[in-house]
Amino acid sequence: MAYTVPKLKDFSPAALDKAAERLLAALKKESADIKTESDWKLFRDRWMARKNGVLTLVNDFWLKVTPKENKREIGQRVNQIKQQVVQTVDRTLSRIQSAASASRLATESIDITLPGNRRPLGAEHPVIKTMNEIVSVFRNLGYSLEEGPIIETDYYNFEALNFPPNHPARDTQDTLFVANQESKPLRDRLLLRTHTSPVQIRTMEKIKPPLRIVIPGKVHRNDPPDASHSPMFHQIEGLAVDTNITLGDLKGTLDHAMKALFGSSVKTSFRPSFFPFTEPSAEMLISCFICGGSGKRGSEPCRSCKQTGWIEILGCGMVDPNVFEFVKDNGYDPRKVSGFAFGMGADRIAILKYGVDDIQLFFQGDVRFLEQFG
Ligand SMILES: [Zn+2]
Repeated sequence: MAYTVPKLKDFSPAALDKAAERLLAALKKESADIKTESDWKLFRDRWMARKNGVLTLVNDFWLKVTPKENKREIGQRVNQIKQQVVQTVDRTLSRIQSAASASRLATESIDITLPGNRRPLGAEHPVIKTMNEIVSVFRNLGYSLEEGPIIETDYYNFEALNFPPNHPARDTQDTLFVANQESKPLRDRLLLRTHTSPVQIRTMEKIKPPLRIVIPGKVHRNDPPDASHSPMFHQIEGLAVDTNITLGDLKGTLDHAMKALFGSSVKTSFRPSFFPFTEPSAEMLISCFICGGSGKRGSEPCRSCKQTGWIEILGCGMVDPNVFEFVKDNGYDPRKVSGFAFGMGADRIAILKYGVDDIQLFFQGDVRFLEQFG
């Protein structure tokens, strides 16, 4: 039976005590039965609603009808009852809320003996990895790292590197030019840099000699993609400028670098070549690190060196004095300083190192291929 508020007839303290006792016992019992928040709302309203709530009825049936001489005493008791009701209603809510969160915690609890969710680990891209290795070889020799913009002007990409105006590299056959540049003077026209060499000029404009820098970066050529060509690829080049740099320094430095990269048994060889920005210029070859220079792998011909025992690995040369003329104002007087430069294709070296047979694999983003290099 739900508790109902009796109409009080006896206003003695003893009678009130009894009535209060019954009321509080009912309150306690009802509170104990509350399990959910919606139960609690009904409970709260039953006891505290302004209209027909138990407290309102207590006020109407007990206090209002009390004779004057008992009013003070009864008033105090009714206030106590109110406080207890309010307190009990509040505590009931706290109790069911903490019970709910405890049961939520119990269902959400973590079994620390279960294996975790494994996040797939990325691997360093083989080309980036190769570039980092080459850069670190030169950093160990005291070279500092420089970078520059991929969208360049004709001036930095060609003119200041001693490319004559009609050099075939300036032709759209080889170079990707930015569209709608015709209204600008030739030297200001934008293009995608075809080599990392513009950074040589940019750095010499910025830093006075002596200078030793290594420059990794992305370059573009107008080459249709195939197994050994990509319109985007990576170069690393280096530049050393000082007062007395000779071809012997060039050979010694690169010989050391190749041994550091490919193993101490690797031999180097130089063959004359031509680049507009170096004079003299050379191609450097290294003995094939796949077949040890024999041209054969067992009884099979070595594909890496096409059976020659040698692999062309980079271009190099002594900086052409004409190049220094462009940065003469920053201390690069060609009568006082000399230097060497070299450049290599990072993708090609990665292909050789990892035995990959198609440069396109590097740029297709296929995780099954890339994760082999982790
Ligand atoms: Zn070989």
